[in-house]
Amino acid sequence: MTDLMTSNHLPGLVQAAYIIAAVLFIIALAGLSRHDTAKHGNICGMAGMGLALVATLALAARQAALPDPGGQWRPWSLTLVVILGAMAVGGAIGAWRARTVEMTGMPELIAVLHSFVGLAAVLVGYNSFLEPGALEEGATAHIHAAEVYLGTFIGAVTFTGSVVAYLKLSAKMKSSPLTLPGRHGLNLAILVGSAGLMAWFMLDGTEDALVPLAAMTALALLLGFHLVAAIGGGDMPVVVSMLNSYSGWAAAAAGFMLNNDLLIITGSLVGSSGAILSYIMCKAMNRSFVSVIAGGFGSGPSAQGGDRDLGEHREIDARESAELLANARSVVITPGYGMAVAQAQYPVAEMTARLRDRGVDVRFGIHPVAGRLPGHMNVLLAEAKVPYDIVLEMDEINGDFTDTDVVLVIGANDTVNPDALERPDSPIAGMPVLEVWKARDVIAFKRSMATGYAGVQNPLFFRENTQMLFGDAKERVEAIVRELS
Ligand code: NDP
Repeated sequence: MTDLMTSNHLPGLVQAAYIIAAVLFIIALAGLSRHDTAKHGNICGMAGMGLALVATLALAARQAALPDPGGQWRPWSLTLVVILGAMAVGGAIGAWRARTVEMTGMPELIAVLHSFVGLAAVLVGYNSFLEPGALEEGATAHIHAAEVYLGTFIGAVTFTGSVVAYLKLSAKMKSSPLTLPGRHGLNLAILVGSAGLMAWFMLDGTEDALVPLAAMTALALLLGFHLVAAIGGGDMPVVVSMLNSYSGWAAAAAGFMLNNDLLIITGSLVGSSGAILSYIMCKAMNRSFVSVIAGGFGSGPSAQGGDRDLGEHREIDARESAELLANARSVVITPGYGMAVAQAQYPVAEMTARLRDRGVDVRFGIHPVAGRLPGHMNVLLAEAKVPYDIVLEMDEINGDFTDTDVVLVIGANDTVNPDALERPDSPIAGMPVLEVWKARDVIAFKRSMATGYAGVQNPLFFRENTQMLFGDAKERVEAIVRELS
């Protein structure tokens, strides 16, 4: 074993392992793009990460196993112990969180994890700067300095941006946008200031370059905070995927600083897939990427529905709902965040099975940003074993509502709000929605008349063909299942 560790072949073997791991990551991404291959994709991703960890540890162990010329204290042995200790503690915390997290808590958890990547990139940046020999003269030193500076910048923006996203998603901070006067000017000033500090940092070449590096870090932390604080309402999904992308670029930057090819490849894969996801989300929300970054969406006087008189809402109970469903020819279910909160997907799957047994045509309509995570509803329905072929995307089902007898809006709100299409001054104007109001009857499952994530009242709940079924979605659906049996 010691022979292998000290052998000159080991670095080559590690590079080969890195290439295999990178291929496994690409297969994982391809697998994750479809329901039926997602599990396989996850397994490939885990295998790739396992291989990458083993290979990296082998490199560290090699340093520890190499003969020590001076018979002195060997820092690499200590490093190896520290790495293993940190992996054990981190792995235990990670396993515990993954086991205990509720599906509704996943977006917050992901935001926190992104913030760790950002923080790691900042720490790697400072470490690379302070490391002996980092300030040597020549072209390589300049490239290294640029890597340190940019990596630290991206990492710091990702760090505070992700912390704010976490606070907003977990409702520890208001989701409405922070619209400071002259906010675009502030962002621009930070960018220009950071560019100026970069010139100072690159030209200095001494230990004093720590001053512009630290000043830029403070500015970048402020920029991350301000960028995400300024984004509100329906734009948050784009922010989540955008931070996903930033965290990838931060990891790639760390890879350049550490001279680790696998980290560069993995970071770039995460960075570019996050960017593609952000683009898809922007298209789904009918928003341009620039307007999302500029922020401010979801604010304004009509954010709560203003003083508009929306009329009276009507109520229905579980027995009447079951009757309506049993006599329907076609039913569409549009789930939203409330289904995730209530964990109602299992009774929903059972109700679907019972209705289908009775010959009712039941389908699901999934809005691209329903819930709090891209693909949130698809994951829940797959978990409850709802057949994939009856789960349709918004564009596939929107034309069918006029032909639908009953729509069940289960814990959805913003994603079925007609104001998005009908009121140009609505804070969510322009966002495509599921046009459920075109169906003959709509039953909305909710606990109260409270607004959804964007803080906008929904006139759907006051329409003549809508009836409210109040209560926890899981309990209400279970009551309907009992009535149907
Ligand atoms: P919303 O967040 O608009 O509304 C959810 C509704 O569920 C609420 O009105 C709430 O009403 C109801 N609800 C909550 N708990 C329960 C329960 N136990 N039983 C029954 N109903 C319940 O949901 P949508 O899915 O329609 O929209 C998603 C929103 O989240 C969009 O604005 C989207 O932009 C945003 N978002 C999406 C992300 C993504 O990636 N998908 C990420 C971040 C934000 P009540 O309290 O009265 O019960």
